[in-house]
Amino acid sequence: MALSNEQYDALMREYNHKQARNNQIVSYRTKELYSAIPALSQLDEEVSKVSISSITAIFNGKDISSASADSKAKLEGLKARRMELIKSAGFPVDYLEPPYDCPDCKDTGYINGKRCHCFKQAAINIVYKQSNISNILSKENFNAFDLNVYDEDFFEEGSDVSARSNAKIALERATNFVQNFKKKGGNLLLLGRTGCGKTFLSNCVAKALLDQGVSVIYFTSSELFRVFEEQTFKKNTDVADLHDHIFDCDLLIIDDLGTEFQNSFTTARLFQCLNERLLRNKSTIISTNLSLEEMRDTYSERITSRVFSNYDVIKLIGNDIRIKKVISK
Ligand SMILES: [Zn+2]
Repeated sequence: MALSNEQYDALMREYNHKQARNNQIVSYRTKELYSAIPALSQLDEEVSKVSISSITAIFNGKDISSASADSKAKLEGLKARRMELIKSAGFPVDYLEPPYDCPDCKDTGYINGKRCHCFKQAAINIVYKQSNISNILSKENFNAFDLNVYDEDFFEEGSDVSARSNAKIALERATNFVQNFKKKGGNLLLLGRTGCGKTFLSNCVAKALLDQGVSVIYFTSSELFRVFEEQTFKKNTDVADLHDHIFDCDLLIIDDLGTEFQNSFTTARLFQCLNERLLRNKSTIISTNLSLEEMRDTYSERITSRVFSNYDVIKLIGNDIRIKKVISK
């Protein structure tokens, strides 16, 4: 993990912050409920009395199983009554549940001593300076995907599939990719001219998978190639650690492949990266303006055949200016 001590401390402070916020909300809401439902505080007192008396009974050597069965039944009765009171006063039944950002680790960052997926993603966001990713993804997600920006009367030469029908198919395939991700994994190659919505579509996938707790790293291809170069020339251990994430995160997105500055060295690194991820069964999404033929000309035959044989190809077409305008709003 390439987090410095300072970064780790800052991240843990954020988790402490969230926990303090949750506690505050729960205590505020408890007061609110007590004043709205006077019977509730009495009920809570009874609940704690029953709990204490069952513990005392066990300490005093009473038969543990009968004592606990007895108090368990009482507690369940009291809790059901409590739920009814809250509901009939018009509050949601989970009103006193802390509003966790991550219910899996209850905003502690850890589950059974191991780092939670939310911690791993937060670390990735820090290391790769992806702090604005959640901002972008709050706007660019499947709910915001609008098929109407694709023209019904736009056709590519020699094809009778309209831009809109084509986008509908692309959307379905991207949705399937997300739905089957945890079972099947897989890789996507998104093709299409600039402004056809490739980045938007890969952001939709990223958002849906992040919500499932999948770790995602997003790079434009120039950024990725810069990391490759840094790693070799600086011999920096942090950068070496960074590389581990690039091989190891559940989903790597390489946006706009073909726009980077290329040389034989970075091309070899790209092959190594794509190959390593395939070997580790980790998924990659590549988007590019290049056609398949141009990809063949730009990269080695090794890369292109590796990509073509292991990636599902989704192509987006359309009148780019109109689409660009709508999706970059
Ligand atoms: Zn978590």
